[in-house]
Amino acid sequence: MAEAHSWAHIDTDALRHNLERARLSAPGRRVCAVIKANAYGHGVHTVARALQPVIQADDLFAVATLDEALTLRHTASTEAILVLRGPLTEDELALVVHGGFHWVMHSRYQAELLKNWLQIHTGRVPPTLNIWLKINTGMNRLGLPSEDLHDIWCWLQSLKLPGERVLMSHFATADEHEHVLAHQQQTRFAELVKGLPDAERCPRSLSASAGIVSWPQAHHDIVRPGIMLYGASPMADTDGSHYNLKPVMSLKARLLTINQVKAGDSVGYGATYHCEEDTPVGVIGIGYGDGYPRHAPSGTPVLIHAHGKVWEAPLAGRVSMDMLTVDLRGIPASHGDEVLLWGQSWGSELPADRIARYAGTIAYELFCQVTSRVRFYS
Ligand SMILES: *Cc1c(COP(=O)(O)O)cnc(C)c1O
Repeated sequence: MAEAHSWAHIDTDALRHNLERARLSAPGRRVCAVIKANAYGHGVHTVARALQPVIQADDLFAVATLDEALTLRHTASTEAILVLRGPLTEDELALVVHGGFHWVMHSRYQAELLKNWLQIHTGRVPPTLNIWLKINTGMNRLGLPSEDLHDIWCWLQSLKLPGERVLMSHFATADEHEHVLAHQQQTRFAELVKGLPDAERCPRSLSASAGIVSWPQAHHDIVRPGIMLYGASPMADTDGSHYNLKPVMSLKARLLTINQVKAGDSVGYGATYHCEEDTPVGVIGIGYGDGYPRHAPSGTPVLIHAHGKVWEAPLAGRVSMDMLTVDLRGIPASHGDEVLLWGQSWGSELPADRIARYAGTIAYELFCQVTSRVRFYS
């Protein structure tokens, strides 16, 4: 087989370490490990299998879509799986119920779907329904408005169906340390839940990674870590290592060649970068066709392993589909040397959070954008 053009190592020990970090931050809480979007681009089978030994009896996995839930069922046969988007149609509802998935009810139409389904199936043994009632507290994306919440809650309770009911909501601004909306959402959540009859014993869930690391008062009964499992920071402007998280994905490629570019000449598409002096420019075999962000500007760092040492080199010129170029002044690199784009290797770390800041995005997006050209191994 040909050598991989670009490759990503998935460190499953780091993944388990990060889950334990989440547990330490929210001691005694149940964990709903979020592995949607192919485990944030890390490979859902690898990630689910790696986490299984540290998933406890009352914990869950969460995915966004029903398709993802069905795929995950093949890997993780016994763990409970929560479908964050919930069903959209009658067919989807039937699949969710028969699959035994936990699901989010975020809109009135889903209550209607369930009502119809129950009418059609009257007289049969009632199914176990594990429903997470999602309340809009200020995100204004998915979630029941306060006007619908009370009705739907009372109707659900009156059914006396077996299964768990969880009351949940989601923060809009938990990644900023002091945002007034995060306080307001906690207050609204508390007030809305208080207004529901017999809701005291019902588990609550409010915090994703950002809430886990920075809002202890919002941990409630079940926490929903996503990005922190993969070692990136949920908070804007910090790296995962700040929370003692370890990078899980290490993205690598090789130095293909080195050009001696003359002073004043430009490098790459658009001729956006000019060498101020004669400069050795390294060409690295990875680009946006592999998921490296095209918007990473000149100056964005990569790590190169050359002569037994680790060197940081800045991007020089635009990222193209299969390649990117770096300034190698002062670096004794040669073709074939390994390059780290983000992650950790050779005892050094290049946080995806840092690359994301250069590229004007977040590590979540970097991870999700890695393409199928990249060869994954763990
Ligand atoms: C994606 C998601 C999470 C995980 O968020 P992170 O910021 O990655 O921890 C938690 N809850 C819900 C509802 C989500 O959609």
